Amino acid sequence: MISAEFDYKVASSVDDAIALLAEGGAGARLLAGGHSLLPLMKLRFTSPALLVDIARIDGLRGIQTGDDTHVIGALTRHADLQARDDLGLLATAAGEIADQQVRNRGTIGGSLANGDSAADLPAVLLALEGSVVVKGPDGEREIAAADLFEGYLTTSIRQGEMLTAVRVPALAGYGHGYEKFNRRSEDWAMVGVCALVKASDGVCEDVRIGLTHMASTPLRATAAEEALRGQPLDAEHIAAAAELAAEGTEPLGDLNATPDYKRHLARVLTRRALTTASGA
Ligand SMILES: Cc1cc2nc3c(=O)[nH]c(=O)nc-3n(C[C@H](O)[C@H](O)[C@H](O)COP(=O)(O)OP(=O)(O)OC[C@H]3O[C@@H](n4cnc5c(N)ncnc54)[C@H](O)[C@@H]3O)c2cc1C
Repeated sequence: MISAEFDYKVASSVDDAIALLAEGGAGARLLAGGHSLLPLMKLRFTSPALLVDIARIDGLRGIQTGDDTHVIGALTRHADLQARDDLGLLATAAGEIADQQVRNRGTIGGSLANGDSAADLPAVLLALEGSVVVKGPDGEREIAAADLFEGYLTTSIRQGEMLTAVRVPALAGYGHGYEKFNRRSEDWAMVGVCALVKASDGVCEDVRIGLTHMASTPLRATAAEEALRGQPLDAEHIAAAAELAAEGTEPLGDLNATPDYKRHLARVLTRRALTTASGA
């Protein structure tokens, strides 16, 4: 299908983008890589009156690494993340997004602001306990990952605000695992699971598990995390914790899978992700 008509303006800076958003009011939307917004416009799920193109704003693409935090510009592409092994889980997950063409255009800011629970990076941000920096007419604020995802394609970034950066802790000493189940390798996740594990003398000191596509928002598998924390990192304890991975989830059935099948996938993928993350 063809999208409805819209105006198009190119922003030269973050402040310019915020001013253009204010000018456009409720009908204005930011355009970054366009790989989520344009398909939705073509299907007429959304018909913004004005697109504010932020792709050419200088200084929003790149990764700054401090002692314990990575600060990632909103326009950093999935391909840039994929190329940075030192980003650990984030690099691994970015490498699993769609195909190279999509990864060359799609941005971390666009993916997180879009808030799709089937996307790979939202659950990763939750598990990393990262945050996003947003700027709007009233200034700048930071939103923790746990407060960002409010519902299907809905985040706590307000109309008129722009996500400018993503902060993630470096998490030295954590192993990671990422499991994505789909019918074709470049598809969206039917279910995805990311795991971060910190071990001390073979015992689980800390664990974080993020679930993709198991509800209308990304989730943490808190029951499984609690079951494994403080336990030996062997096959038996990992399997017992993974059995709890679907607790508190509300997966929707779709053409690919029933809710029960998704719960089964969550348990199996959690066991695999934990096994990889703990080196068990
Ligand atoms: C064929 C195909 C397959 C895909 N498969 C996957 C997949 O397997 N896994 C996956 O995770 N993703 C997948 N994607 C989506 C892809 O990762 C997108 O690039 C990403 O979700 C959105 O990033 P974008 O830069 O393209 O954002 P855009 O499409 O430009 O924008 C998306 C939304 O975010 C808003 N937005 C963009 N930037 C900002 C900002 N800085 N501040 C505030 N709001 C902003 C826009 O207004 C819009 O509402 C796929 C896309 C395609 C086309």
